[in-house]
Amino acid sequence: MSTRLILATRNQHKVAELRAILTDAGLDVELVGADAYPEIPDVPETGVTFAENALLKAHALARATGLPAVADDSGLCVDVLNGAPGIFSARWSGKHGDDRANLDLLLAQLSDIAEPHRGAHFFCAAALALPDGTERVVEGRLLGTLRHAPSGTNGFGYDPILQPLGETRTCAELTADEKNAISHRGQAFRALAPVVKELIG
Ligand code: IMP
Repeated sequence: MSTRLILATRNQHKVAELRAILTDAGLDVELVGADAYPEIPDVPETGVTFAENALLKAHALARATGLPAVADDSGLCVDVLNGAPGIFSARWSGKHGDDRANLDLLLAQLSDIAEPHRGAHFFCAAALALPDGTERVVEGRLLGTLRHAPSGTNGFGYDPILQPLGETRTCAELTADEKNAISHRGQAFRALAPVVKELIG
C-alpha cells in the first residue's frame, strides 16, 4: 500500500505539480492537499525565514494528521533591496494577497534603478516533516531581472515583472509547463523527491 503524504496547501495546482514530480521520481506515495483535512486550521507564518515558515507549516500538519507532511514557502528577493520583499512578498503593500498592489509598490520603489542593478530571484524552501519530529528542508531559486512594467497574463504574484535569465519573456508570458520546468518551486520539489524516498519511500 502506498504511503499517504500531505502537502500544506489548498492550491490544487501545487498538489498536481508535486504529485507529478514524485511520480516521475518513481515514488509510490499518495499525495493529498490540506483540503483533505478541512478541520485543521492554517498555521500562522511567524518565522523570519522561508525555511522556518516551511518547517512550521510542515511540523504542524504532521502533528495534526499523524502523516508525513510537506510545506513550501516562497517569495521574491530583490538584490538592491537586500532580499526584500522576501518573506513579506504576499503582503508587501500592506494587504495580504493583493498581487497588483504589491507589484505596483515594488515597481515604484525601483523606478530609479537602472538595468544592470535590477537583479532578483524567486526563492522557495520546501520542508518535509514526519510525525516523530524528523525534518528536512531543501530550496530552489529562479534567477532573473525585473522589468520596469508588467507584461503577460499567466501565473500570479510578481510573475509579470520577473524575466528569468536567458529568457526574453517574463514568467507571466511563459506557459505553466515552461515555468514549472525552471521555477524555484519546481526545483525545490524536485530536490525533495529523493528526500521523500529516503525517509518514507
Ligand atoms: P507562497 O509562499 O507560495 O504563498 O508565496 C508567497 C508570495 O510570494 C506570493 O503571494 C507571491 O507574491 C510571491 N510568489 C511566490 N512564488 C511566486 C511565483 O512563482 N510567481 C510570482 N510570485 C510568487
